Amino acid sequence: MKAEIIAVGSELILGSTLNTNSQYLTKRLSEIGIDVLYHTTLKDNRDQLKEVIDIGLKRADLLIFTGGLGPTGDDFTKEVVSEALGLELVLDNSIEDDIRSYFNKTNKVMTPNNIKQAYIPEGSKPIKNDLGTAPGIFIEKDGKTVVLLPGPPREMKHMFDKYVMPLIKQDYIIKVVTLKTIGIGESNLETIIKDIIEKNDNPTVATYAGDGLVDIKIVARGDNESEVMKLLEETVAKIKDRIGESIYSYNDEGIEEVVFKILKEKNYKIAFAESCTGGLVSSRFTQIPGVSEVFDRGIVTYSNMSKMEELNVSRLTLDRYSAVSEETALEMAKGLMDKTNVDIALSITGYAGPPSGEDEPVGLVYIGIASRDKSKVIKTRLNGDRISIQNKAALKAFNELRKFLLNM
Ligand code: ATP
Repeated sequence: MKAEIIAVGSELILGSTLNTNSQYLTKRLSEIGIDVLYHTTLKDNRDQLKEVIDIGLKRADLLIFTGGLGPTGDDFTKEVVSEALGLELVLDNSIEDDIRSYFNKTNKVMTPNNIKQAYIPEGSKPIKNDLGTAPGIFIEKDGKTVVLLPGPPREMKHMFDKYVMPLIKQDYIIKVVTLKTIGIGESNLETIIKDIIEKNDNPTVATYAGDGLVDIKIVARGDNESEVMKLLEETVAKIKDRIGESIYSYNDEGIEEVVFKILKEKNYKIAFAESCTGGLVSSRFTQIPGVSEVFDRGIVTYSNMSKMEELNVSRLTLDRYSAVSEETALEMAKGLMDKTNVDIALSITGYAGPPSGEDEPVGLVYIGIASRDKSKVIKTRLNGDRISIQNKAALKAFNELRKFLLNM
């Protein structure tokens, strides 16, 4: 289903009010797989509004208007929409009662033009406004759905969520799957699954990126559960074929949670030794309830001395290869294994920046992982500022752990 959002209000065009309604509605519609193709914003002008409606009816199946439903002379969205659709305005007694009781309750003075709000296009459904006087309107005509909502964001959001969403969703079942990926940038990922995204019909597929992770949201619609599940499964399988390794969750879980679950399943204990992330890996891990079942300890070994004292890293290694090196990362992980009684140990050492000398390549990070019989070091170059590098290093560490554990 293709949708267009039409925001009516001179203040939106003049720049004095930010058009947050269109943003809100687009987000909410995308959650149920409705593709918003156009945002149109226009002044309170009858001729332009007429033109916009005619264009909208040609290119979208669902048109949502916000604004211009009030009682004043420059509020004419309802009149112009009705005219464009060839519908008469008729008095709705229940809305008239609602408006009268709103004025009684709030002790406001009701003026004759408030009754203007009780007129609705013939055959349409009025939508209750719990937070104001202007009712919304839901019209279905010739295969098109047209929804009119009030401009004030508080009224609009409440009305949309409580009354309009169920009306839009009533005709079919909607299911959503979020594939969580790591290690492929958003643009790269979009290129790999471009044809699937561009099909953009049913299911709809969209990517959302944030600090090193990209989520792929798949929304399918259909008349019954099995039809929807089939659509979802086919698309998930296609995406999995192309980027399977990078998908860490099919259930909207965080990467730490995925690692936790694998450790729990295998009955393994883990410990971390962190340098450049300063405890971030431990901190993120301990946000999971019940993590004590698998988590032994996290040590922050920031100085060379602490790496030697706590993890038995040799001075020779530190002098010869430096604290940020494959050799140091490996000795940190192995030293942690020797010191503890865990099944798997992880170390992180790197330069989070900003640089304090020329020989510090900011973003260079080594992750060491050791079990009783295997060990490996992953070298990576991350970009961003100090905080972003630390966050990305922690995520990368969890992802490398996940892969290591799956092969253990
Ligand atoms: P009212 O009954 O309050 O007159 P209305 O439906 O006629 O409601 P407008 O008069 O167009 O709505 O706008 C009312 C308020 O809502 C104004 O403060 C306006 O700036 C704000 N508003 C309108 N449209 C938007 C929008 N798209 N995004 C954010 N705010 C908006």
